Amino acid sequence: MGASPTPQNRPNSSNLAVATKFNRAQLKMNTQNHTVGPVIEHYTVAWICALQEEYNCAGRMLDEEFNAPDFDAKDNNTYLFGRVSGHYVIIGCLPAGVHDGISAAGFGRDMARSFPNIRFALLVGIGGGAPTPDRDIRLGDVVVSQPQRTLGGVVQYDLGAYMSGDTIKRTGQLNSPPAVLLGAIPEIRRLQSDPRKPDRIANHISRMDDMPEYQRPAQDRLYRTGYLHQGGKTCDLCLEDRLESRENRPATTREVTAHYGVIASGNSGL
Ligand SMILES: [Zn+2]
Repeated sequence: MGASPTPQNRPNSSNLAVATKFNRAQLKMNTQNHTVGPVIEHYTVAWICALQEEYNCAGRMLDEEFNAPDFDAKDNNTYLFGRVSGHYVIIGCLPAGVHDGISAAGFGRDMARSFPNIRFALLVGIGGGAPTPDRDIRLGDVVVSQPQRTLGGVVQYDLGAYMSGDTIKRTGQLNSPPAVLLGAIPEIRRLQSDPRKPDRIANHISRMDDMPEYQRPAQDRLYRTGYLHQGGKTCDLCLEDRLESRENRPATTREVTAHYGVIASGNSGL
């Protein structure tokens, strides 16, 4: 970022207008020859990941990558810069090895200071699904946070008062997603549910076809409630006869099934 204003370079309305014109001209030049990226002011969308795996995949979703603009040296984060459709996006990953709320807050603060035009930040990551009889959630589905009744869209399940019998009485919740995102949901759902429209999510996912570790497994195994994982990174030691029996999902024209509703979040895993 620039130095603090001195009498010689203190901004006034006329040189700000020049700066804006310069940025536009520079952006035009940049998108033509890809050598330098857009400037700080162009970035309006932030995408935050908590895990390395999430960051690796997020990078593949960019239509174009840019070099980092010259930003605040006091910002401890590293970012990936790019474009998705007409949006200039910053992708950031929380510091390696720390995934608590405090480091996430520091991360967000640095990002907001370095990129003042960010309109919203999307937290995108891997979640655990807990299917119910009315919510057939499967491996590879996408869940989008949306307010429901009195709930804001994300409920912190370990924020509350511990009651007897290991139950938690919820004492707080997080704010709703910004209105601009909630306003976009009906149109996204229309495009996704109309089989005459192209499956744009499938198109994006195919960008990871050469990343074998990120492919959907052949089987989606759901163990019965109460059965404990037998250890190890995979379920190789877990017993087949403890699996929940489920019908195959009816075929759809879409690669990914999306659910909209309240997401539970917490500092301990599900
Ligand atoms: Zn297991």
